[in-house]
Amino acid sequence: MKRVLIANRGEIAVRIIRACHEEAIEAVAVYSEADQLSLHVQAANAAVEIGPAQPSESYLSIPRIIEAAKKTGADAIHPGYGFLAERPDFAKAVVEAGLTFIGPPAEAIAAMGEKTEARRRMADAGVPIVPGTTEPLADVADALARAEDLGYPVILKAAAGGGGRGMRVALSPEEVESGFLQASSEARSAFGDGSLYIERFLERPHHIEVQILADEHGNAIHLGERECSVQRRHQKLIEESPAPNVDVALRSEMGAAAVKAAVSVGYLGVGTVEFLVDASGAFYFLEMNTRLQVEHPVTELVYGVDLVREQLRIARGEPMSCPTGPLHPRGHAIECRITAEDPFAGFVPSAGRVKYLQVPTGPGVRWDGGIQSGTEVSLYYDSLLGKVIVWGNTREHAIRRMRRALEELAIVGVATSQPFHRRVMEEPEFVAGRYDIGYVDAHGEALMEETGSEEMLRAIAIAAALAEDERRGARVPTRERPSRYVADSAWVQAARVDGLRG
Ligand code: ADP
Repeated sequence: MKRVLIANRGEIAVRIIRACHEEAIEAVAVYSEADQLSLHVQAANAAVEIGPAQPSESYLSIPRIIEAAKKTGADAIHPGYGFLAERPDFAKAVVEAGLTFIGPPAEAIAAMGEKTEARRRMADAGVPIVPGTTEPLADVADALARAEDLGYPVILKAAAGGGGRGMRVALSPEEVESGFLQASSEARSAFGDGSLYIERFLERPHHIEVQILADEHGNAIHLGERECSVQRRHQKLIEESPAPNVDVALRSEMGAAAVKAAVSVGYLGVGTVEFLVDASGAFYFLEMNTRLQVEHPVTELVYGVDLVREQLRIARGEPMSCPTGPLHPRGHAIECRITAEDPFAGFVPSAGRVKYLQVPTGPGVRWDGGIQSGTEVSLYYDSLLGKVIVWGNTREHAIRRMRRALEELAIVGVATSQPFHRRVMEEPEFVAGRYDIGYVDAHGEALMEETGSEEMLRAIAIAAALAEDERRGARVPTRERPSRYVADSAWVQAARVDGLRG
């Protein structure tokens, strides 16, 4: 493997390019017209434009991506997450083109991609699943009958689902009727498949997922869990490892179930088995993500493993490099997803040019980002700009570091979720490790209401960045002069004085 094409964009493309370079592998980027001046394009050894901004015409176009790989002499393709990462037809097309797919076999992706089939397989393999159906529902009448058997509340979910779409909670038969139509039409437009299944809706469980790793040499291990219950509309915002409420016994039980799940579908590479865990510690299989996850860095920090490096090794047919005996987490890691969304306006997506960027550094802090000063943030793609990940000796130490890192992070030009994260890191229930998937709903008001001082701070920072723009001349990057500015503005530093902080 000498040259890898990365069929993705943003922070994950940059993350994979870094791993390739560490392995002395060249990285080829692909980009849409909207991403011409993106960080991932600059970080790669070569880059190929694959079409217009619309994902269907570029990042989702299998023929264009294969053609780009052929043209640049790439011998392997890494799909990242999202886009084509969980499309068995893509994995198959890559292999049929004579290239290596850096991910599991197409059959394993297919087995886990259809959620009712995945549930059936898991039940057969003896992995506990959330009570509910293992076949798609025939119609509303079928849904009503199943809901009656399960008992309310229930949740209707898209069989082809992902990203929290095509899901409706129903507390009554009337809500099953209306939710069925809404969920299936949402699923049809998002996944081209409107089929639904139904599950018992668990009251305030934890979303806890297990990282697994399997190679061709018969090694299959788990790397502990991640607690991902801080979610808004079923989308994760903060993840941590280890989970505050998982002890050694539960970790090894869930880990064993996750490995069993992966082995039962002939899994290879890195993957994640998601579970819901109730207050009693009972856990239920939710789904398997057959790819690298956004939140993989927290596992890397506590297990001392580079998961992308392992993906490359396993795809080359080598054994995994980490010990295959039981592994234990060391210290504690937390990740905050920094998205271009305004937490003070109901998380509406925000677009615009990043006028100023200062990323956090220093002990125990990692920034995995896909932006730089000058980057145009568009509404075409996922709103994730980057992730702040910290490691500490203890959970308390990690929280202190996250507070400090979030103070250092400065993004001017687009609204971001940063203030939301700063508040969560101070919120007593989160700090005590007492939270479940109801957390954001329960605390939403306090976490998302704007205070005067924050408004003022933002205004000062924007004014400072604009004044600096003028002082240095326009800083719109061009092909010849890509923007790489040093974060040294005295004005932005001045805006950080303690007195201005709420
Ligand atoms: P997706 O693939 O769209 O992300 P998941 O099945 O992984 O969907 O569920 C996403 C989130 O929705 C979970 O993390 C959880 O917060 C919530 N959820 C899903 N199923 C249930 C359930 N049966 N009971 C309670 N919450 C659920």
